Amino acid sequence: LCDGLEPRRDLLIEHLHRLQDALGGLSRDALAALAERLRLSQAEVYEVATFYHHFRVLDDGAVPPRVTVRVCTSLPCAQAGGEGLLARVRAALAGDPGVAVEAVPCIGQCHAAPAACVGQRQVAPAPAEAVIELARAGETAPRRAPAHGAPPQPHDYAQLERLLRGELRPIDVLRELEASGLRGLGGAGFPAWRKWVTVAGQPGPRHGVVNVDEGEVGTFKDWHLLAHDPRPALEGLLIAAAVVGLRHLWIYVRDEYPDVRALLAQELRALRERLAVWQQRHPHAFGDPDAPRADGTRALLPAGGPAIELRRGAGAYVCGEESALIESIEGKRGLPRLRPPIVAQRGVFGRPTLAHNVETLWWLPTLLRDGGAAWAAGGVRGRVGWRRYSVSGRVRRPGCYLRPAGTTLRELIEAAGGMADGHELYAFLPGGASGGILPAALADEPLDFDTLAAHGAFVGSMAVVVLSQADRARDAAASLLRFFAHESCGQCTPCRAGTAQAVALLQDEVWDRERLADLSQAMREASICGLGQAAPNPFDSVLRYFPHEVTR
Ligand code: SF4
Repeated sequence: LCDGLEPRRDLLIEHLHRLQDALGGLSRDALAALAERLRLSQAEVYEVATFYHHFRVLDDGAVPPRVTVRVCTSLPCAQAGGEGLLARVRAALAGDPGVAVEAVPCIGQCHAAPAACVGQRQVAPAPAEAVIELARAGETAPRRAPAHGAPPQPHDYAQLERLLRGELRPIDVLRELEASGLRGLGGAGFPAWRKWVTVAGQPGPRHGVVNVDEGEVGTFKDWHLLAHDPRPALEGLLIAAAVVGLRHLWIYVRDEYPDVRALLAQELRALRERLAVWQQRHPHAFGDPDAPRADGTRALLPAGGPAIELRRGAGAYVCGEESALIESIEGKRGLPRLRPPIVAQRGVFGRPTLAHNVETLWWLPTLLRDGGAAWAAGGVRGRVGWRRYSVSGRVRRPGCYLRPAGTTLRELIEAAGGMADGHELYAFLPGGASGGILPAALADEPLDFDTLAAHGAFVGSMAVVVLSQADRARDAAASLLRFFAHESCGQCTPCRAGTAQAVALLQDEVWDRERLADLSQAMREASICGLGQAAPNPFDSVLRYFPHEVTR
């Protein structure tokens, strides 16, 4: 079953997918055979297989389901009837032992909620009848890439070619990047040029990682970009590789995006052919990026081009955290690492690593074509550049909206066709599950990095979920805490135990303000990674802005 897949430890997750896709589940015998093939202990294989939500480890003698149906019940899907969809699908398929129906967190299709997956087939929006029919028919193959029928835009890789021709030097790219003020658009907002300079200053070999594991509730911009226009991101990746001198690149795509994975596999095949042509045209640009030449230059890309591997996630939100993602690329459980060292110093296989979100890389060809300053001038209200906002919830046209950095919620709602019929703005999530919950009174605040700190909130990956009078902020917070409890990797107690305790406390009609405050403080101060540190944001927001919902 694993023919053609090298028996490497770092490919353990790929092997597990191969087995599960073929067998429907992972029996102990299959895991033992895999451990032998990869020369790993059975315990190592078992702990990885049981860490990821998408692997089904079978008890002895258990028969795996023929089809697994996953129905999203995270906030935007819940607003659109996700729980009802789940109940209907469960009831209709209850008599079929070959079908497993599961409630799952966000699958990145919030623009077309409610969403479900039948095997690897995304269905969004998902009428119950369609989901039931697909499950009964066993139609589980991914829908054909590209999603929604649009072929990838033609793209000439002009900026990369300028770099390979020597018309543009790495230092010019760094200057434009700095002038643009481009920040990491995965959520952290770290200045991109600084990260590049840090990694470039480390001894080789250096590597690169593209994080396509967006799992934040309400976020679907990376899916949108890659499904509709992936080539600028691939050009951006090669520009980064050339400027920073990267040898090996990994693109880690969440398991919920099989259409994007298929499209990227096709694009990467074409890109390898292009790299061969570029090497023939510009031989001086290829060689050993770590070997200075007599003329003071160095090769931009390794001979033959950098190795680029596509990796498949396995349903762990925490792998969106860059060090957890790197652990996963190495074939391990996605446990965030303690810092320092940062991944720019010690990333994949202990080597300096440039880790970026898709959208950050996607902008590079544009800002090199137009100039960094021109890109920066796109922002409004004193903000810099452009943002893609994922807008979902109670609006007429949920979707991915490209707007100037600093756009307000009111403007986004207008872009999305206004509030849905019969709904009035009550509250909103400015940054997915982690960014807090704000009241309608703050609808005119600019939505950008750092602009909401005074309100105890942040925008993260710009996932905006709109709530109306049909929703309660306390229900939203409870839903988000269930999400965090489900996704906590369990490595540190404040997060593992704190999220579970918060889920219980938020069920009380009257919230225990003191206990929640203690919990919030402990989680913020003692959690290892952003998941545990930000998990209190939803309930802290409710206590601050919506106390009428949780007090008598
Ligand atoms: Fe894992 Fe939570 Fe600790 Fe992060 S904060 S390392 S998710 S237990």
